[in-house]
Amino acid sequence: MVLTTALTRYLKRPELFLDLANDLGSSSADLRKRFPVLNPSTGELLAEVPDMSADDARLAIERAHAAQEAWAGLTARARSNVLWNWHRLILEHSDDLGAILTAEMGKPLAEAKSEISHAAAYVQWYAEEANRIYGETISAPSNDRRMLVIKQPIGVVGAITPWNFPASMVARKISPALAAGCTMILKPAEQTPLVAGAMFALAKLAGFPDGVINLLYASVGDTVGRELCTNPKVRKISFTGSTEVGRLLMRQCSDQIKRMSFELGGNAPFIVFDDADVGAAVDGAIQAKFRNAGQTCVSANRIYVQSQVYAEFAEKFTERARTLKVGDGFDPDVTIGPLIDRDALRKIEAHVEDALHKGARIQCGGRRVGTSGTFFEPTVITDVFSTMRMAQEETFGPLAPIIRFEDPDHVVREANDTIYGLAAYFYASNLKRVWRVAEALEYGMVGINTGRMSSEAAPFGGIKQSGIGREGSRHGIEDYLEMKYLCMGGL
Ligand code: NAP
Repeated sequence: MVLTTALTRYLKRPELFLDLANDLGSSSADLRKRFPVLNPSTGELLAEVPDMSADDARLAIERAHAAQEAWAGLTARARSNVLWNWHRLILEHSDDLGAILTAEMGKPLAEAKSEISHAAAYVQWYAEEANRIYGETISAPSNDRRMLVIKQPIGVVGAITPWNFPASMVARKISPALAAGCTMILKPAEQTPLVAGAMFALAKLAGFPDGVINLLYASVGDTVGRELCTNPKVRKISFTGSTEVGRLLMRQCSDQIKRMSFELGGNAPFIVFDDADVGAAVDGAIQAKFRNAGQTCVSANRIYVQSQVYAEFAEKFTERARTLKVGDGFDPDVTIGPLIDRDALRKIEAHVEDALHKGARIQCGGRRVGTSGTFFEPTVITDVFSTMRMAQEETFGPLAPIIRFEDPDHVVREANDTIYGLAAYFYASNLKRVWRVAEALEYGMVGINTGRMSSEAAPFGGIKQSGIGREGSRHGIEDYLEMKYLCMGGL
């Protein structure tokens, strides 16, 4: 068994991953086939992990299926206790987990540690929530019968997670599923398998029985993803990633009408009205735009500022953006790490080029930093119009386009004019405006006078093509439960 007290050893010792794959995962198959995990700050090889196949996925599904009845048969308190153990171990190992996360994903170490705390908070929340699964009784229309509703676990769940929050996404899926009595097979993103592996090793120590959670590593998502979507023993798919891949998985699940939870892409508007506290709006926009180098699904993608406060906002925001320091996430002064890969660099460059070509102006940044790594300067662009690519597509990088507006009603229509509906933000002080705008924005989450709203206590998720279902809060566990109506007659 892998010694979790020496998690950092993973980074140099591929054989530990083979142990992990044999022990927790799923198989037998040819674990000599491996794929590399690179540090995006340096390009250095961190580790090689087993590249699993559809056969491995099938075996993992069998294990999860075999374990599910006994896991669901435990008392809620017993399931909760194992989650509490996992929570404690994650906190005890948070320094190691944070370091692994920074090494494979690049985000600054302080952000990585904050993500580990956030992951632990989800486990804690669902350790508590496991004990609060309630049914209902219904007043029957006749006296000779009784009607009630019970909640039962869906069964085996296949989960697929992205690279941008590789620890908290694992916790956000595993903890509500296990609290509900489901079992799970999880495939982390190709770029960030290490922190997921470490969290699985801790879960094993926490006492999850064999087969209850299963880890699959794969260099090509489709290899194991297709098996998860088409194997009838998997009753639900929980996916976080791009809308494009979400659509594909939905099609693959459609033959079996599988249950689905999807947390997909976004194109978040951030609106500053003329009655806003401009200093607070700048603080909020810096957070909402540059956290994780802009690589978050709730990242402010379009910043709309009303003309009366436009100049003041643009100047103060640009000043703050210039103070952000780009570099290796292990440097304690760094606030912006690398982008995940070269494709991400090319996308941000294409967005800048398109905007400049159409008349926008760069206030700061706009270029790569250095020749090794995948660093890009924090960039502010003004004179942006809604027709530019950066306002239409999710940039997923440290690029802030500022768009001037005059008419408050028009800006809300413009903010809603997208296929996405994940997160929106606005700053205003007039109470009437605050209510009207909050209700009019077609988004699953709205931040009012704040640039940060993610919490284990709140329902995270989108509408339109940003997703189906919610993670976090009391609602998150419902996504892993079926409702069964019982009707007792002849009374
Ligand atoms: P992605 O390309 O959709 O990949 C996400 C996951 O899906 C990865 O594990 C990937 O595996 C896997 N995958 C890719 N193609 C697959 C296929 N054909 N079948 C099965 N699995 C497949 O997204 P990403 O680039 O990692 O993440 C960025 C996107 O995620 C952004 O759009 C962002 O907005 C969204 N996101 C949404 C939320 C939310 O809560 N709404 C949170 C975070 C991120 P490989 O790595 O092996 O390709």
